[in-house]
Amino acid sequence: MQHSTFVPESPIECAALHAFVYRKMLVHNKWRIIRLLTLVGLSLLLVLLILFIVVMSRTFTLKENLGLQFAQWENTTIISADISKQQREVLLANFKAAIRIPSVSFSQTHQNTSALREFDQLLRRVFPNVFSSSLVKHEVVGNYSHLFTVLGTDPELVPYMLLAHIDVVPANEVDGWEAPPFSAKELNGFIYGRGTIDNKQCVMGILQAVEYLLERGYVPRRGFYIGLGHDEEVYGYNGAVNIAKVLKSGGVKLQYILDEGLAVMDGIITGLNGPAALIGVSEKGQATVKLSASTRLGHSSMPPKENSIGILAAAITRLEESPMPRLFGYGPEQSTFEHLAHKFQFPLRFMMSNLWLFNPLLSRVMERRPDMNAFVRTTTAVTMFNSGVKVNVLPSHAEAFVNLRIHPAQTLQEVLDLIKSTISDNRVKLELVDGFDSLPISSYDEQSFGYQIIKKTLLDMFPQVTVAPSICIGNTDSRHYMDLTQDIYRFNPTWLRPGEPERIHGINERMSVQNYEEIVLFYFQLIQESDIRILPPSHTGQHEL
Ligand SMILES: [Zn+2]
Repeated sequence: MQHSTFVPESPIECAALHAFVYRKMLVHNKWRIIRLLTLVGLSLLLVLLILFIVVMSRTFTLKENLGLQFAQWENTTIISADISKQQREVLLANFKAAIRIPSVSFSQTHQNTSALREFDQLLRRVFPNVFSSSLVKHEVVGNYSHLFTVLGTDPELVPYMLLAHIDVVPANEVDGWEAPPFSAKELNGFIYGRGTIDNKQCVMGILQAVEYLLERGYVPRRGFYIGLGHDEEVYGYNGAVNIAKVLKSGGVKLQYILDEGLAVMDGIITGLNGPAALIGVSEKGQATVKLSASTRLGHSSMPPKENSIGILAAAITRLEESPMPRLFGYGPEQSTFEHLAHKFQFPLRFMMSNLWLFNPLLSRVMERRPDMNAFVRTTTAVTMFNSGVKVNVLPSHAEAFVNLRIHPAQTLQEVLDLIKSTISDNRVKLELVDGFDSLPISSYDEQSFGYQIIKKTLLDMFPQVTVAPSICIGNTDSRHYMDLTQDIYRFNPTWLRPGEPERIHGINERMSVQNYEEIVLFYFQLIQESDIRILPPSHTGQHEL
């Protein structure tokens, strides 16, 4: 019998056939797998190639920072500063006199008020033009704060406002100061003293600039205000809050506000070539949360399994072990690094230009440094823990305070909910002592008047700096002025080099003589630059080339 196909007749033949078919299938499958793997490999390569092209082209074409650099600006900086040697000495003496007045804020209810009165006298003595000019109206607000209204000739132009604060945090020489903190002693070109970089350099810098301008016959086209708070270090509820109230009751609207906050970072950002001037366009929010646990009072000889201290300590441990989620790239910090990207060395330039891709990796690297971690997430710091009354008495109550700095991509409520779920123990009571969300983000595009004026003034003075928007980790008085403007900037051109940010609120706070002069000149220029009616259209200069 003829068979078109082979039919096995014995069990052995059957097994052989199975083996044959199996081998054939195996070979067939092997080829299919190889073909599939090749296809997958090639597709992966193609994706990688496209990704590489996108990443490279972003690295070399990202021009976030260009802005109005080539635009044709109206020239309003007509009056030149030209400070004589003798004027320089006076300028420095005025600053030193301000540092020597210990205008310390110890708490909201305890301030050195006689120093604040003395400061008032100093301002009147050293800035006679400011206090006598018919262009300037001066008011004392909240007993020790100052509001200056400087009239502009063009009422159509919306005024702006400069802010600074007179009070300082306490300082003790015994903590290791190289010169007494209220001595204003000059050492190697630096003036040492509490308030030299927070924030009397701005208080004196602004008024010194206005004094010079008035002396030289300047009449502003755009009006402006100067607000000098006396209790910023203890929340500004008497100073800034009341100044803002005065302005609000007068129906004032502001083009922009410039307050203290960020600075020129020189050699502080790892991998960045040259200094960066970071302008704070927002501030992190803040919350203080009280956690407490209560158990029955009793003698330590018959302790229960757990008492209030143990319960609360366990809750705190859970909080510390589960940091808030990484949010790097979801707030204004994304813009900061995109604006600075072209000044980073490789491979950081590569990564900073493509945060959309490298965010997860970068945030893991950044979170290792506490100062960088502050940009990555809402930070959690347990600052107080109180419990117990006697060595042989069981504590009936334990309480701890947690201070949080809220990332702009998170709300206060979300933070509170997360704390609750992390602690996950109903015996621990959670109370919000005070807190607020992070502040709205001010504009920093090419139509942003305040941002562009600050940027231009800076680049005219310091062409070597790269300007970028950023976020303030601490809070300033400017948050009390939110109803008056949408655009609040926190910056002054204090140069901070490695080791110097720690001097703010720390020991050996100091300001170089040269930098103080630059600060005076910065405000001198900025006030004149602000007289511009409108910003120039972008890139006009480029088209003319
Ligand atoms: Zn300050």
